[in-house]
Amino acid sequence: MYKLLKVTAIIGLATFFSCQKATTESEATLTQEQTTASADTAQAQRRPAPTFHKIPTDMAKNRVYICDDDVSDTFHQKNDCQLLLQCKASFRNLTLLRAVENYGRYNCETCSKELAFVFIEGNVN
Ligand SMILES: [Zn+2]
Repeated sequence: MYKLLKVTAIIGLATFFSCQKATTESEATLTQEQTTASADTAQAQRRPAPTFHKIPTDMAKNRVYICDDDVSDTFHQKNDCQLLLQCKASFRNLTLLRAVENYGRYNCETCSKELAFVFIEGNVN
């Protein structure tokens, strides 16, 4: 009985230490991520996400491009748009609906001027 207890205690201790190590490591990672996040926030100049949008059903699935960095707040219909080409980060090709709803993007004034209406309240489609 005593031996069994001892074994249990050793296993318990081992588990305790390995758990503690794992926790310490993940906390360290988390702290680093938080630091990075706040640094990004300080640099960001993007506009807040559109408060209103109404995308015609037949356009919602149109593919658009976004620059996946911290400051871009527009989507592009043309993948060779001058503004998109200035993107230093990676591109994303996604549906118009996702660009607006998930990424809070506005229409690019250069290549997607005609899409400004989706952000105008009361637009008819
Ligand atoms: Zn554009």
